[in-house]
Amino acid sequence: MKQGAPSVAKMLSFEQALSEVEARLAAADISPPIEILPLHQAHGRILSEDVDADRDYPPFNRSTRDGFAVRSQDVERPNTMLTLDGEVRAGEHFEAEVQAGHCVGIMTGAPLPTGADAVVMVEYTRTEGNKVEIERPVISFENVVRKGSEAPVGKRILSRGRRLRAGEIGLLASVGKGHIEVYVQPRVGILPTGDEVVPIDRKPEWYQVRNSNSAMLAAVVASAGAIPWEIGIGPDEKKALRKLIEQGLKADLLLLSGGVSMGKYDLVEEVLRDLGAEFYFDSVAIRPGKPLVFGRVQGKFFFGLPGNPVSSFVTCNLFARPAIGVLMGSKFERPRFLRARLEKAVRHRTGLTTFMPARIETRDAEPVVSLVGWQGSGDLVGVAEANGFLVVHPDQPSPEAGDWVNVLPMLT
Ligand code: AMP
Ligand code: MG
Repeated sequence: MKQGAPSVAKMLSFEQALSEVEARLAAADISPPIEILPLHQAHGRILSEDVDADRDYPPFNRSTRDGFAVRSQDVERPNTMLTLDGEVRAGEHFEAEVQAGHCVGIMTGAPLPTGADAVVMVEYTRTEGNKVEIERPVISFENVVRKGSEAPVGKRILSRGRRLRAGEIGLLASVGKGHIEVYVQPRVGILPTGDEVVPIDRKPEWYQVRNSNSAMLAAVVASAGAIPWEIGIGPDEKKALRKLIEQGLKADLLLLSGGVSMGKYDLVEEVLRDLGAEFYFDSVAIRPGKPLVFGRVQGKFFFGLPGNPVSSFVTCNLFARPAIGVLMGSKFERPRFLRARLEKAVRHRTGLTTFMPARIETRDAEPVVSLVGWQGSGDLVGVAEANGFLVVHPDQPSPEAGDWVNVLPMLT
């Protein structure tokens, strides 16, 4: 147990800690307010309404090729001659019905004329005057997307709680949703602590460090879709720290950084306890980021992130990001690990889930991961070099060169 800290349950594993955050947020039954936005401003937000198809998609039997609309039973044998009746382009429709032995020129995106049931690609035809030779047979509905096959009218195409990425934005545009109901963005307070930490526009003494965590955490918060609110720098002194924390609790979520380790001046947990906080965990079997704290005070959730820049970065992405998602109206989205081939053997101390700054590249069409040179959890130079993390699980032996390993791409 940490000094000055409340008695909290034992150290949790990475998975247990994530589940704890998920469960506590679910139990809080958060339902953010709703606003209506123009679709163009809704990217990254969470949908708060269900959306149904307003008509069949596609709305007609749509040709996927340039070629000729035919009756498939007319061209069962190779090199059949058909009579050309005309042409239909995207944005037009062909009035007459295609009769046996006839065909109509058709362009990609155009509706299939009645009578026809397939499209022959232009590459497999020869035209002479009003005669077209169809070199190969086609089956019924070849090169055609059937009316309503993507979504019939009335079908639920997006549900409440869906994050609006580019694909969802395109889909909403296609069903005519120029305005859309989304959840209001939460405000996330960011409160770094430490007597050695000075604002970035001030020249630090040789024994001081600039407050890099606020800007970095604000970037993570913004990329998660919430509004960052930087609250200044908390000192390692209880009274003043308490005042700033109280101010920070006006936010929907509070991210503290620093002051959560075992030191004599690590006062964050003590001050939170004085304010009546419940602590759900205060250490996690991960590296970096072991002293991570998660709890709730005065109705607001908070994370006490370790002050080391890399630890702050990793824990914010792993734990605070999915929590922010829930406050935005989304479901809890666990970090998604992918696989890559390890370039060089890595030594790993078992017992902790370890996240090592790494570069993930594609070589010969295969994902390959290699560690960046770094000096431990204070090293932002190493983090800036990385585009992800190599993830090694607690009971996994040290991975060898060529092994398929887990990686976590950086989302910001
Ligand atoms: P702490 O978690 O308070 O023990 O801090 C651990 C390390 O992170 C120390 O070397 C601090 O100087 C550094 N650190 C703490 N807060 C920040 C911050 N806001 N920006 C940059 N470095 C920090
Ligand atoms: Mg400190």
